[in-house]
Amino acid sequence: MKLKNKKILIVGQGISGTMLSWFLEKAGIDHIIIDDESSNTPSKTAAGLINPVTGRRVVTVWLDEQILPFAEKTYNEIGSFLDIPAISKTSIIDFFPNPFMKESFLKKLSQQAPYISLVDNDAYLSEYFTYEFGTGIISPSYIVHLQELLPAWKNYLMSKGRFKNTGFNFLKLQVNSDAIIYDGMAVDMILFCDGAHGYTNPYFSLLPFALNKGEAVIIEAPDLPSDLIYKKSLTLIPFCEQGTFWAGSNYIWDFDDDKPTEEFRKSAEQTLKSWLKVPFKIVDHKAAVRPATVERRPFVGLHPVYKNVGILNGMGTKGCSLAPYFASQLAAHILYQAPIEKDADINRHSRILERTSV
Ligand SMILES: Cc1cc2nc3c(=O)[nH]c(=O)nc-3n(C[C@H](O)[C@H](O)[C@H](O)COP(=O)(O)OP(=O)(O)OC[C@H]3O[C@@H](n4cnc5c(N)ncnc54)[C@H](O)[C@@H]3O)c2cc1C
Repeated sequence: MKLKNKKILIVGQGISGTMLSWFLEKAGIDHIIIDDESSNTPSKTAAGLINPVTGRRVVTVWLDEQILPFAEKTYNEIGSFLDIPAISKTSIIDFFPNPFMKESFLKKLSQQAPYISLVDNDAYLSEYFTYEFGTGIISPSYIVHLQELLPAWKNYLMSKGRFKNTGFNFLKLQVNSDAIIYDGMAVDMILFCDGAHGYTNPYFSLLPFALNKGEAVIIEAPDLPSDLIYKKSLTLIPFCEQGTFWAGSNYIWDFDDDKPTEEFRKSAEQTLKSWLKVPFKIVDHKAAVRPATVERRPFVGLHPVYKNVGILNGMGTKGCSLAPYFASQLAAHILYQAPIEKDADINRHSRILERTSV
């Protein structure tokens, strides 16, 4: 399909929809986004951390050498375009919560693993934190300023008349092999970036999603230096206002709703009381459902049966690092049939998707 002079409809303006829209815009492709502006989406709940290592065994993240520089470059470009700071480069102070985690970190260090080192002089940290097992540094890491980036991109699209604040209704969608009509509007292609709602999306609900809920509290801690990220059992990330920090998170696989829980708030408060030596106050509490997947890999590509229906989803815990790279791949795939990373391409589930009945 030749897409120049044609029109694409994107459903969802989280970080996935925003990045896809950015790459289509750069390629000069006419498109419009529909988003219901829910307040409790993961893109509006996340602190925007990009951490190059993951887990107890301090493992380097998947495709780090491609994905991380690409994310940094993309956020800097869109930030310059919108005249906002979209990304900051920083470091994480990793407070070892127990001797085993310290041992894992030191073992990786001895193997010359990238991104990790020891703090030259961490004595100053004891002015702010209680900790017993020492610290390491993870660097570079990044904070994507989602709270500025998402509204700024929405405003840009609105100024062009290309953003619709409304819920998407599948009953109004008609997909034919040569055209799509949505609520009276004709488009050539529809791309779903609908996050956890993908789980009930009739075109993609057969994909192996593994949704999980996560929470964070926002604290005021004006005496805590705000140039670094601090990680122990919670991660403290400098947030929008000077002196405020985002503190999260948890992973709940069995949940009835997407609301914040009293249990998390209490345990976060307790953890912060025993970790921080400076005064703090909880000023907000957020929760959202992550669009995670069984294989921990995203869902990217066009439907094998409905070839003008596509998806960019399944970002799990890492939307900020994965979305730019895979949005760019999906845009290039649509425009030039460029290949999509094998482990992310929904083609790996084509046999399941062929059973889609809409
Ligand atoms: C507590 C928590 C902390 C996190 N921290 C981080 C972090 O630090 N770094 C990181 O990289 N990731 C983090 N994540 C994960 C990250 O938030 C997700 O990977 C990412 O936000 C997913 O983005 P998305 O655009 O795919 O989906 P969403 O953010 O869910 O966006 C989907 C959009 O589609 C809209 N939509 C859906 N259905 C419809 C419909 N029918 N009609 C109209 N609009 C619709 C929604 O309103 C929403 O705006 C965190 C998640 C949580 C919950």
